[in-house]
Amino acid sequence: MSFELISPNTLRDALDLLDVDDPSIRPFSGGTALRLMMKSGVFSPSKLVVLRGIPDLSGIEISDDGSLTIGALSTLAEVETSALVARQVPVLAGALKHLSNRRVRNVARIGGAIAHGDPHMDLPPLLSALNAEVIVESRNGRRHIAVEDLVIGYYETLLEPDELIVALRIPAQDDWHSAYRKVTARSADDWPALGVATSISHEGKEIRDIRLVVGAATERPTRLDISEGVLRSEGVAGLPRAVEAAMESVEVMDDSHGSATWKKALLGVELRRSVEEILGRNA
Ligand SMILES: Cc1cc2nc3c(=O)[nH]c(=O)nc-3n(C[C@H](O)[C@H](O)[C@H](O)COP(=O)(O)OP(=O)(O)OC[C@H]3O[C@@H](n4cnc5c(N)ncnc54)[C@H](O)[C@@H]3O)c2cc1C
Repeated sequence: MSFELISPNTLRDALDLLDVDDPSIRPFSGGTALRLMMKSGVFSPSKLVVLRGIPDLSGIEISDDGSLTIGALSTLAEVETSALVARQVPVLAGALKHLSNRRVRNVARIGGAIAHGDPHMDLPPLLSALNAEVIVESRNGRRHIAVEDLVIGYYETLLEPDELIVALRIPAQDDWHSAYRKVTARSADDWPALGVATSISHEGKEIRDIRLVVGAATERPTRLDISEGVLRSEGVAGLPRAVEAAMESVEVMDDSHGSATWKKALLGVELRRSVEEILGRNA
């Protein structure tokens, strides 16, 4: 396999190298996913645009409105250990501790972790529950995409081949409280068989609003709309019905991490636990 490896120093130069009509030219962040895909023969690039030398894509900042902006080239380890992330969105720092091992987290970048589109990723469901968005740039300008809308199918995202994620923006969480429950078939830091991300705005046990997202067991991160509706209208008393609705409405995949029947049963258990965990923690 022969391909060109180019390392631009500016965002402008990187964007100029990408081509909307040629998906064989790919941005390369940490390379942890791309290398595996190339090694297994699933993907053969014509050109890799290495982003690591671009200073504009780094850094973690907080704005006056309390939102957090994380540069796309921040490593997962930098996000995990950031004091700002620990203060604003502790659930993200906690989830990263069990996302693979330290060697992978030292190399993989937040932009790559969101753009990859593998259904077995921990971050897209969690970031969707946090109502986060990505800031995306091409030669034609900038657009914002909700993380919830980004992954549209199995390894498929809304990103065009000439677009780069330049940053992730997580809004201030104010009175929202969140949990991420990852279930693995082997060690705690293995790929998830199931990920359940829950965010609740509540006062005591009274649920004002809720966002529930399931990942890993489904073809793409999936919002549990019916269960959310039940909990909004019935409050915590509706939890058994919300759990039942989630198990009935979601299409769960069979794969090497476990059977669909097992994962569906787990979804019920973890959804109930996540809601109880948040309401109990902040009661
Ligand atoms: C051993 C191992 C275990 C793992 N376990 C887990 C796990 O438990 N949970 C989990 O969630 N993940 C897991 N992963 C996956 C890991 O999270 C991803 O490989 C990693 O986050 C991808 O980031 P990267 O910077 O290396 O991306 P790259 O490999 O560089 O790129 C991945 C994809 O994103 C595109 N891309 C990269 N950067 C951008 C950008 N800025 N804008 C647009 N497109 C971009 C690339 O073109 C490519 O298509 C594991 C990976 C390995 C190797």
